[in-house]
Amino acid sequence: MSTRFTGRSAVVTGGASGIGAAIAELLSQEGATVTVLDLVAPDAASTAHRWQQCDVSDTESVERAVAAAAEEAGGIDIVVNNAGIGAQGDVTANSDEEWMRAWNINVVGMARVARAALPSLRRSDAASITNTASIASTAGLPQRVLYSATKGAVLSMTQAMAADHVREGIRVNCVAPGTADTPWIGRLLSQAEDPAAERAALEARQPHGRLVSAEEVARAVAYLADPQNRSSVGVCLAVDGGMDALRLRPQ
Ligand code: NAD
Repeated sequence: MSTRFTGRSAVVTGGASGIGAAIAELLSQEGATVTVLDLVAPDAASTAHRWQQCDVSDTESVERAVAAAAEEAGGIDIVVNNAGIGAQGDVTANSDEEWMRAWNINVVGMARVARAALPSLRRSDAASITNTASIASTAGLPQRVLYSATKGAVLSMTQAMAADHVREGIRVNCVAPGTADTPWIGRLLSQAEDPAAERAALEARQPHGRLVSAEEVARAVAYLADPQNRSSVGVCLAVDGGMDALRLRPQ
């Protein structure tokens, strides 16, 4: 069966868990050859994916993994820069080392993967890079200073890269999930005194009364990466139940 990504090769960073795993799954279901670049291996259930062990905070690791992915799949058409880590607290909460680590993974990590993949993307007739930004890119979230700084940078990096590469036929966009139901959020909720009550309160704060699913974010990524979509360029596509458009803010 031919589907929209048949014959396309995709790399998905952070594809072993949560949003990245859903993206890898959907692109694969829709015909792409998907290579997950992650610190850890995807679930055995995600057998459709190849995996290259990769730490996006390390240039050598990224260059090796991207080269291997391109060689094994015969090129790269789609990059999904999704790996990221969280950080909590006000401006006093994080040490210089924590700032540099989050910046290195969340921002430089995406630039590294894009840089390594560009020669392959230039050979594709429908290339795209989709970065995972966040509602934190624009919202002014309380107690998320470091995380927001990195995600704001992802948005501006996306727009600047979109300008640089549009004439080469490489479209660069980002998605901005609201609070998405992934192992990441599970880890945060498990630290609460009453995780079930905390989850219920979190859901109640969403405009549509529930968390965003990883699959919904994956569908937005697939839309932006679709080879038929030649005109979405420099877009930041919110998948947040209306949180941003309605000017609501998670507390
Ligand atoms: P997750 O923790 O479930 O998955 C993150 C994946 O990234 C893991 O597989 C992890 O191994 C991998 N990873 C972490 N550091 C890495 C590194 N240095 N090199 C390679 N891989 C690395 O998280 P998630 O909730 O699926 O988040 C994925 C992305 O979505 C992140 O960029 C996050 O900032 C963004 N996001 C998440 C939410 C949310 O509510 N979950 C909301 C907005 C944006």
